[in-house]
Amino acid sequence: MTDPKALAEKAISEMDARAIDPTPDNYEIWYTHATGANPSLNREIEKLEDAGENIGKDHLDQIRSKHLTPSNNDSAMLEMGGKLEDELSGVMQMLETATKDTGAYGDSLNNVSAALDTERSPAEMRTLMETLVTATRTMESRSKQLEERLQESKAEVTQLRNNMEEIRTEALTDQLTGLPNRRNFDDSVTACMDAATTDGSSFTLILGDIDHFKKFNDTYGHQTGDQVLKLVAQCMRHHIKQPLKPARYGGEEFALILPNTDLTAGVKLANEVRRTIESKELVKKSTGENLGAVTMSFGAALFEPGESIGDLIKRADACLYSAKHAGRNQVKWEVDTDLEAIAS
Ligand code: GH3
Ligand code: MG
Ligand code: MG
Repeated sequence: MTDPKALAEKAISEMDARAIDPTPDNYEIWYTHATGANPSLNREIEKLEDAGENIGKDHLDQIRSKHLTPSNNDSAMLEMGGKLEDELSGVMQMLETATKDTGAYGDSLNNVSAALDTERSPAEMRTLMETLVTATRTMESRSKQLEERLQESKAEVTQLRNNMEEIRTEALTDQLTGLPNRRNFDDSVTACMDAATTDGSSFTLILGDIDHFKKFNDTYGHQTGDQVLKLVAQCMRHHIKQPLKPARYGGEEFALILPNTDLTAGVKLANEVRRTIESKELVKKSTGENLGAVTMSFGAALFEPGESIGDLIKRADACLYSAKHAGRNQVKWEVDTDLEAIAS
């Protein structure tokens, strides 16, 4: 479903059915739910409902902070914007004063020039010259001040621009693995969709999820789990070269966007990544303990012209879940007749 009006109606009727207040915060959750663009949010809601829970305020607060909270970078970016605005308004004021000064200087010159048209005594000439010299000195000193202020401002703006660039990169990068994050992924998918719509090309989206990762964390600890996430990111980077784009999509979920790649090639690549990951023997550095291997399941979907980002993700996610249900450590896709040979 791509029509925003239909999505809005769906969100409102879902809230209605559950007697949830239609506040803007709640609406954001249910609108996102209706788009299907955030499968972990949808899964969390489904899990609660399967468990027979009535979704209340606490659940919604939790869902919000877990799946929709904006990053700290947003406020840092706003602060930068404020500083830039202050800097610009300072410069504007300075320029305004300079314009007035230039106008006054021009007037002085005109007066002197008009006075020179008539005959003047040496004393009058001296007074005129003094007026001229004073006006020129004032102008000179103002220009110098303006130049200094503009130099300062230039340095300040350059610094702000560098900071903004840093924050922007940070806002688009996952801190643990260094891979592009979910926000970056959304931008990349949108760009691929636009390109596909314009030039008729296509692309494959692959979603991957580490198998039984909760159990791994419970057994070996969250920090060791983090090391596994880094390892998975490394394997992705190893296989996925530009312009193919890997991303950390969620907690232990990864995504691969494969521009100009059909489903056959996409499934083949996902299988290569899957095999690399399962072949890694994990050893805990501090103790030398052998932790065995981790595996991952993948779902692949080929972009269909005209579909929304939410629909594409939903289809890849459904394939990922069929890979989980079929026993994990495998790749699944929608049309599986032609691809049987490369599935293993
Ligand atoms: P399945 O095979 O069905 O995917 O099972 P699972 O246990 O992997 O799935 P589940 O969704 O139940 O659990 C996901 C786990 O991923 C729970 C959470 O602790 C872990 N996880 C999510 N983000 C991180 C992270 O940043 N670091 C670590 N160490 N663990 C994480
Ligand atoms: Mg998961
Ligand atoms: Mg998992």
